Amino acid sequence: MSYIASGQTHLIRMMYGGHPNHDSFQEMLQTFGQLAESKVLSAEKRTETERAQDSLKSLALQMSQSEKYDQQALKTAIAQTKENEKIPDEVYRQIVDFGLPGMAFSEPLGGLEIPYPVFMACLETLGKASPSVGVRYAISNTVMEGLRFNYEAGQLSEYGESILRELIAGEKLAGFALTEGSAAGSNIMKEMITRAVPIKNGNGYRITGSKMFITNVETADVFTVFARTSEPSGDDLGISLFLVEKGTPGFRVGQVFEKRTVENSSLGELILDEVEVSQENLVGKAGCAVQYGMRMLNSGRITIAALATGLAQRAFDEYMEVAVEGKKLGDQHLIELDRTRARVAEMSMEIHAARDMTYHAAWLKTQFDANSDNREFLRDYVIASNGAKLKASLAAQQACDHLVKIWGASAIIKENPAMKHSLDSWLYYFGEAVPEVLENTIAHMEVKKYKKTKGS
Ligand SMILES: Cc1cc2nc3c(=O)[nH]c(=O)nc-3n(C[C@H](O)[C@H](O)[C@H](O)COP(=O)(O)OP(=O)(O)OC[C@H]3O[C@@H](n4cnc5c(N)ncnc54)[C@H](O)[C@@H]3O)c2cc1C
Repeated sequence: MSYIASGQTHLIRMMYGGHPNHDSFQEMLQTFGQLAESKVLSAEKRTETERAQDSLKSLALQMSQSEKYDQQALKTAIAQTKENEKIPDEVYRQIVDFGLPGMAFSEPLGGLEIPYPVFMACLETLGKASPSVGVRYAISNTVMEGLRFNYEAGQLSEYGESILRELIAGEKLAGFALTEGSAAGSNIMKEMITRAVPIKNGNGYRITGSKMFITNVETADVFTVFARTSEPSGDDLGISLFLVEKGTPGFRVGQVFEKRTVENSSLGELILDEVEVSQENLVGKAGCAVQYGMRMLNSGRITIAALATGLAQRAFDEYMEVAVEGKKLGDQHLIELDRTRARVAEMSMEIHAARDMTYHAAWLKTQFDANSDNREFLRDYVIASNGAKLKASLAAQQACDHLVKIWGASAIIKENPAMKHSLDSWLYYFGEAVPEVLENTIAHMEVKKYKKTKGS
């Protein structure tokens, strides 16, 4: 059975059937499916029990090789256990070699120039194999989008362009630093405390503050940091966007969280203690970062939708296995019961809807990118991207929930992945905006559309 869902190939055929590269898009998707299944999925599947067994074996081996209790051997074994807990670097290298980071970027920038919906199909596949690995590249992509449209608008410094090229080539990984610990994430643009002050008689800014719940906190080489550069006045919230590289004096990782979800992705706090950056680090124009942030999040939400669709599909596939081949009630498999069949139909529809909305939003994004001044495209694009994220994150939660339930009590055993999927689905619920914020955004745009058609 192919790791790629038939719905993925159908949609790509529907969108690009007449395109000269349609066959190569399908081939690329199949090849990426093999990589995701054989490398990413198998690395992610190593359960905590397996890891613990590995560490014990390794410890026993090292101790047996020492004549007496060897403290160093113990330390080495513990260090190795930590290493075993991670996705091997080799897996990340293969994803980069495949070209995933630069897949949807233009050839002049060093990208593969593959249509955005095909990139989403690959991200969906990655999300099916491992939400942790998926979110690593999705977040980096959100940053890259912010750099790309500023580059295309002629607003990115040479330094910014060189970072963008390195990200596209997969030589660097990025993080997106918006959320802060002192305010609700949903209201961060209004309550942001992190400040960037122009350096007196200098050519740059000094940034002070902290950022919370930042994905890739330990693994990213560079972050886009949102900071207040002036007091809010009316619609102008006075926020600017900066590139800050790891290793810049005053910039360090604070608390790193152990979490119950996406455990192979690093999440934590960034501290900025009078970090000096030059004018070149400013992305675009000062004071315009709310607009940049919304553009980054509009594309980022489609990537989250793709990952969530992948998780929903995985939970659905596992549900079907239990329902069709798993335990029985008397002499009946669960799939023969009406309630189970209704759930299958419901999940199937929700996943199809999530995927359709995601690829459609991805297609609209490419239309909007080419017509950024067109307000009508903007409204439809924002409705589609926010809607796709909302639909797919809820589809993932629903499928994971049903999977836990169909397993019954055995769902709570650690080796059973159902509960892990369910916990992973919360990343998509919270990450890049909670449902209420998405609903507000969609309704706001629908009202604008309504008023426009009424001429008011
Ligand atoms: C795994 C993970 C990775 C993340 N990675 C990043 C990252 O890389 N970079 C980054 O900057 N941030 C990141 N975040 C933070 C994420 O963007 C925030 O979680 C998100 O913006 C929501 O903010 P919050 O968690 O503070 O929830 P809040 O905004 O406090 O919302 C909590 C609850 O309040 C209610 N609520 C909120 N707004 C409304 C409303 N308008 N109407 C009605 N009810 C409402 C809802 O019930 C909501 O669930 C990450 C979060 C997670 C979980």
